[in-house]
Amino acid sequence: AFRRSARLSGIEVSLIVQISEKAREAKARGEPIIGLGTGEPDFHTPQHIKDAAAAAMAAGDTRYPPTAGTAALKAAVVEKFRRENDLVFTPDQILVSTGAKQVLFNAFFATLDPGDEVVIPAPYWTSYLDIVRVCDGVPVVVETSADDGFRITAEALRAAITPRTRWLLLNAPGNPSGATYTPEQLRAALAPLADHPAVWVLSDDIYEHIRFDGGPFVTTAACVPELRDRTLTLNGVSKAYAMTGWRIGYAAGPKPLIAAMTAAQGQSTSGACSIAQAAAVAALTGPQACVAEMVAVYRERRDLVCAALDAVPGLSCPPPGGAFYVFPSCAGLFGRRTPGGAVLTSAMDVATYLLEAAHVAVVPGEAFGAPEHFRISTASATADLQEACRRIAAACAALS
Ligand code: PLP
Repeated sequence: AFRRSARLSGIEVSLIVQISEKAREAKARGEPIIGLGTGEPDFHTPQHIKDAAAAAMAAGDTRYPPTAGTAALKAAVVEKFRRENDLVFTPDQILVSTGAKQVLFNAFFATLDPGDEVVIPAPYWTSYLDIVRVCDGVPVVVETSADDGFRITAEALRAAITPRTRWLLLNAPGNPSGATYTPEQLRAALAPLADHPAVWVLSDDIYEHIRFDGGPFVTTAACVPELRDRTLTLNGVSKAYAMTGWRIGYAAGPKPLIAAMTAAQGQSTSGACSIAQAAAVAALTGPQACVAEMVAVYRERRDLVCAALDAVPGLSCPPPGGAFYVFPSCAGLFGRRTPGGAVLTSAMDVATYLLEAAHVAVVPGEAFGAPEHFRISTASATADLQEACRRIAAACAALS
C-alpha cells in the first residue's frame, strides 16, 4: 500500500485550495460563483516583459542556467536593491529561485534541523507553516491584534523566542492582513533580537510595491542595520509585475546562507527557467509605470470594497496599508442564524454561508491563523468585486 513519508504527514491541501475547489464545483453546476479566493493579479504581464522572453527564446537562451541565477538577472537584482532599498549587495549574495516560494523552501531546507523553531506572526500566509514543517522545523505562531494593526510587538516576540529559535519570518505588507510597519514600529518590534544573536530574520517583501500608506517601504536589512548580517531579504516579480506564472523569486543575504540555499536548489530544480529569468530582467530594469498603474487599480478596489463591507452590520473592514487583499472581521456575525437555521460560529461558517447564499468564494481566516476574519482578494475584476459586495451585504441582511 502507498505510504507517505513522515515528513509529509499532516501536510494537507490548504483551506484556500479547498474553498477554491468548492467554488469550482459550484461553478461547474452552473451557479454564478464569484471567486475572490486566490491572490493573483488579474492583469496580463506587461508587453515589454513578454517581448524580452520571446527575444531570449529566439536568441537560444534555452540551456541550463547557472544554479543561483543568470549573471544578468543577479545584476538586475543587485541594482534593484541599490535603487529601491538603499541596500548594497554583491552578486554572490543573490539567489534566484523558482518563485518566492522556493526561496522560502531553500532557506528553511538549508538551515533547519529537526525541532528548530521559526517564529511566525499571525495572520500569516498559509504556506509558511507547511514549508517550515516539511523542512522538519516547528512553526511558533505569535498572535497579533487588529488593534495593533496586525503588527508583532516586542513583548510577543521576546516571549516566543527559545534556545531553538532560528528565524523570525516577517511579511509586510502582509498577506492576508495588509499590515505595514513604519521604521519606528519595525525597530521597536525587533529590539528583542539584540539579545538573541542566533535568531535570523527572513523578510518577505513580495508585496513591496503594492502599498497605499504613502510612507517609505520598510525592510529589516535597511531599517535595522544591526540585523543586516543575519537577514535574508526575499522578493520577486510575481505580484508587482503580474508574473505569477513565470515563477521567479529572488533573495539577498549573507554569503554563507546564499551558498547553502544554492546547494539546496542545486539538488532540486538546478535553477529557475532561463526564459523566465530574461523576462524578470526586463521587469526589474524596464519602465516601472506599469506597476504604478496596477497599484492605482488595487487602491480603487480596496477603497470600494472596504467602504461597502464596512457599512454591513456585523462586518468591520478598515482599509489595509498594502497588498491586494482586504481582511474584514466577521466576529460581529457570530451567533447569528442563517435562513436555513444554522448558527454562524466561525469564519469558516461565514465563508461557507457566503459561498452558498451569495455565491461568493472568500477564504476563511482559519487558513491564516485569524479565525475572526475572512480574506477577499482585490486582484479580481472591479465589476466582480462590486457585485460580490452587493451580494455579501444582502446575505448578511438575511441573517437573523
Ligand atoms: N510570499 C507571500 C506572502 C505570498 O502571498 C506569496 C504568494 O501568494 C508568495 C510569497 C509566493 O510568491 P511566488 O509566486 O513568487 O512564489
